[in-house]
Amino acid sequence: NLQLVWLRSDLRIHDNSALAAAAANGPVVAVFLRSVAQWQTHGHGATKLDFWTRSVAAIKASLNGLNIPLLHRDIDHYNEAAQVLLDIAHEHQITQLHFNYEYALNEQHRDQSVLDAFKQAGIAAQGHHDAVAFAPGSLLTGKGDYYGVFTPFSKAWHKQVTAQQLALRDTPGVQSPLEIDSDPLPALPSLDNDPVDKRLWPAGEEAASDNLERFLRFRGRHYNQQRDFPNVRGTSELSPYLALGMISYRQCLQAVMSENDGHLADGDAGLTTWVNELIWREFYQHVAVGFPQVCRHQPFQEHTKQLRWRDDDKGFQAWCEGRTGYPIVDAAMRQLVTTGWMHNRLRMITAMFLSKHLLIDWRRGEAFFMRHLIDGEFCANNGGWQWAASTGTDAAPYFRIFNPTTQSTRFDPEGEFIAHWLPELKPLPKKARHAPPQDMLNPTGYPAPIVDHKAARQRALDAFKALSK
Ligand code: FAD
Repeated sequence: NLQLVWLRSDLRIHDNSALAAAAANGPVVAVFLRSVAQWQTHGHGATKLDFWTRSVAAIKASLNGLNIPLLHRDIDHYNEAAQVLLDIAHEHQITQLHFNYEYALNEQHRDQSVLDAFKQAGIAAQGHHDAVAFAPGSLLTGKGDYYGVFTPFSKAWHKQVTAQQLALRDTPGVQSPLEIDSDPLPALPSLDNDPVDKRLWPAGEEAASDNLERFLRFRGRHYNQQRDFPNVRGTSELSPYLALGMISYRQCLQAVMSENDGHLADGDAGLTTWVNELIWREFYQHVAVGFPQVCRHQPFQEHTKQLRWRDDDKGFQAWCEGRTGYPIVDAAMRQLVTTGWMHNRLRMITAMFLSKHLLIDWRRGEAFFMRHLIDGEFCANNGGWQWAASTGTDAAPYFRIFNPTTQSTRFDPEGEFIAHWLPELKPLPKKARHAPPQDMLNPTGYPAPIVDHKAARQRALDAFKALSK
């Protein structure tokens, strides 16, 4: 009665729906299909792929402790998945395959092709909705549509969520050893960019749950006040772990409830604000299923297709390299490239700067983020970019264009974040770091702004106004 669990971006043994279901039905073998070429076409860079590789090694060690062997196969593209899994199923006389659904379009197609192939071969296969409380399509508006706006989605989520949806799934016990060996894990082939320092992001469930515990103990209750200040460690920094499933949203929510008298929507304002962010994560996963055009490089808002983005390679390059002359933007871009992560407030500022001040196609920025982010995840990244570019669900209205200098003085008041990432500006008086005057710039080598805020703002407004709805 051997069960096969196919692990993907759910690299944990605790609270894993597919693994728990497999273990409830018989002894388990696990498999990981590495699809480097496919992931590169999705834009993931070395940092994410390196983290993925380290995370597979971490779960292999945990599975080993349960006597669950981990098979490892390399495939170039998703269309090979079904055959490789069927071969394994035949070789080991597997009774049933289990996996947790992923919701971006290529992953949906891959999963469907696997389900179809197993059906045809007469072998049971079951997908589980594990990464979200509500399977996409099961939380809809009164008219029966997918939500395209966050607030009503979140209200409905809170109203309808049940204790059963949030209950932790069983951790498998130690099984009797099988006569199947784990495969050695091959090293990652060399890629055209280098991963960030591995020590910044230790892989594995333990690192993830330590992070959660520290966050809730020291920062959770201040989250609503501190989350917008990039120089304060105010957020959980759990995104890389959530993206690869080293921790689940259920584990996060259960931990919140035990800190907050069992509540998710009431009680401590820091904790409930944080819960909302986890619901944003789920919202964008539903959006990817309900509005699949967003997975095809299309804007959510149809009419914004006609927007005339500027062809400006020089501007794009300056943005990528942190040389726009707007210190908060440049400091943020250096944080991204150096650490693989960027603070949420800065993701909004830099994304808006590219799509509005430079009027450069948001898809170029989305791809650059994906290449560098360790937490790069299609639904959240696409959702965030379309929000900033005012082309998406619940988008920022096009006329609300962040002034980067005002954002900088509000959220990095002492210019400390700027000084950390742009040491050339450290000698400047704190207040001058947000927008250094020309006479102070010369000795620093830091560039003057590549666009004027007012003129750039007007250009963006004109471009959006020219769209017919
Ligand atoms: P916390 O503030 O502690 O939030 C907890 C968790 O909630 C996060 O780890 C994340 O899983 C989720 N979350 C928080 N905010 C959002 C959001 N707006 N949308 C979806 N989920 C959210 N997040 C990613 O995980 N991957 C991405 O590729 C990604 N790209 C983004 C691109 C842009 C342009 C923008 C504006 C946002 C993007 N985000 C992305 C969302 C958000 O910036 C990060 O999730 C957050 O900064 C991660 O830090 P944290 O773990 O400390 O978050």
